[in-house]
Order: sequence, then structure tokens, then C-alpha cells
Amino acid sequence: MKRFLISACLIGLNTKYDGENNIEPCFCEMVKKGIAVPFCPEQAGGLPTPRDCSEIADGEGRDVIDGKARVITDKGQDVTENFLRGAKEALKLIKLLNADKAILKSKSPSCGCKCIYDGTFKKSLRQGMGVTAAYLQEHCINAIDSDEYLTQK
Ligand code: SF4
Repeated sequence: MKRFLISACLIGLNTKYDGENNIEPCFCEMVKKGIAVPFCPEQAGGLPTPRDCSEIADGEGRDVIDGKARVITDKGQDVTENFLRGAKEALKLIKLLNADKAILKSKSPSCGCKCIYDGTFKKSLRQGMGVTAAYLQEHCINAIDSDEYLTQK
């Protein structure tokens, strides 16, 4: 049985920046069955919970990896290194699991796979991936958007 990674907040772990979660019962079932393994790249990257809200300024995940954009909190702190560290830890776990896919929370600056918040902290979206999603994709891991997964189910 091939296991895969899942954003920890999707199974009810309170890993979100505000100390809450994005629980979806069907994802909890996957963990109960032993096929999904929860992981939060922002926590693994060394950020506390709760933490300040972050967005990618002037770019998306790929730009952050290429050093062309930074991840900034709503208080102006640069947390790019934490986001990059979390992405690398995600890949480490995926390799340990011998997995080839991850289901990741939509819109997050780490986990978003299709679109992310645009860096203005006004809840506006732009196309692009979060840092972990982009990093995994770059390493041939199929990063699946959680909202898309739920609508196709
Ligand atoms: Fe969920 Fe990903 Fe944000 Fe962690 S970084 S709280 S797993 S969306």
C-alpha cells in the first residue's frame, strides 16, 4: 500500500497560523486507514503556533525557491528561511514514506497547489503554488490541491 503526505490541518490538527485547523472528515479517514501521513511544513520549518499570518510577496512558491521572492508576515518579518526549511523537511518525509504524492491545503503560502494569497493580506488570490507545493512538484511529487480533490471525489 502506497502512503502519501497530507497537510496536518486537514485532519484536524491545530497547526494553522491562528491555532485552528481545516478539518475534512474524509481526510481523517485516510489517516485512520494508515494511507495518509500528516505533516505541517510551517511548524517543521521552525515557526510557532499560533504564529503571524504570512504571504508570498511579489511572487509564488517557485520564485521563493529561486530566490526571487520572499515570504513575509503581516508584521513585516521575513520568514522565507522557515518556509524553505519546511519544504525540505516535507520532501525528506515523503522519501522516507516512499510516497509519490501529497494532498495539500488550498491557498496556503506553503501548501497551496493552484492559487495562493497574493501578498497584500487582503484575502485576494493569485495563481501559483505555495513554497512546499512548488518544492515537491520540482522533485517529481504530485502535489494535489485539497479543494480540487474534494470536488472530484
Ligand atoms: Fe496546514 Fe500547510 Fe498551513 Fe501547516 S502550512 S497549517 S499544513 S496549510
